[in-house]
Amino acid sequence: MSFEQLQLIAPVLEALSNEGYTNPTPIQQQSIPIILQQQDLLGCAQTGTGKTAAFAIPLLQLLHQQGQGIPPRGQRNIRALVLTPTRELAIQIGESFAAYGKYLPLRHLVIFGGVSQHAQVEALRKGVDILVATPGRLLDLINQRYISLQHLQFFVLDEADRMLDMGFVHDVKRIITKLPAKRQSLFFSATMPPEIQQLANAILNNPAKVEV
Ligand code: AMP
Repeated sequence: MSFEQLQLIAPVLEALSNEGYTNPTPIQQQSIPIILQQQDLLGCAQTGTGKTAAFAIPLLQLLHQQGQGIPPRGQRNIRALVLTPTRELAIQIGESFAAYGKYLPLRHLVIFGGVSQHAQVEALRKGVDILVATPGRLLDLINQRYISLQHLQFFVLDEADRMLDMGFVHDVKRIITKLPAKRQSLFFSATMPPEIQQLANAILNNPAKVEV
C-alpha cells in the first residue's frame, strides 16, 4: 500500500516524500483511514512502529481541511492537543509535526516542565493550532490561564501505560475534565492492563481498535 492510496493531500505527500518515506507502516495503514473518518481510536503499538506519524499525518490533514484560511498571528486556537509523558517524546512529536506539516500553514508548540515557562507563554501568545505537552506543565499553564482548551477538537494520549508508570494518571484525568466533550480522541499504549483499559474507556467514544 502507498501513502497515495490513503487519500492524503498533496502537501502532506510531498513532505513524506522529502522524509524519504515510501510506504506506510502497518499502524499507519490501519490508523490513518480511521482518523481521517473522524472516529476515535484505541491503538496498541510500541515506539518504533511509526505510531507518531500514524496520528500526526491525519491530524495535520484534518486541521488543514477544517482551517478557515490562515488567521492572523494570535488569533489561532488550540485545536489539537497531544499529551505525552516525557520531554524527549514531546520534542520528537513536535519534530514530526514540523516535518510532515512543512507545507501546511499550521503552527505547533511543544511545552514541558523543568524549564522556565516564559518562552512557552510568549509562543502561546502568538497562537498555535497544535499543542504537544507533558501533563504537569500543561496543567500549570491552564491553571494560570495561559492556555484554554475550549476550542479543542482533537485529543491524543500517547504512551498511556508510561503515563501510568510515571504517576501522571491523576494529572491526565484532571486535563480530561478541561476538554470539550465533543472531540475526536486517539489513545495509544504499548500494553493494555486493566487500569489503562479503564482510562481508555473514560476518554474514548466508540473507538476503532488497532493493534500491531
Ligand atoms: P515512532 O514509532 O513514531 O517513534 O517512529 C519510529 C521511526 O520510524 C521514526 O524515526 C520515524 O521517522 C520513522 N518512520 C515513521 N513512519 C515511517 C514510514 N512510513 N517510512 C519510513 N520511516 C518511518
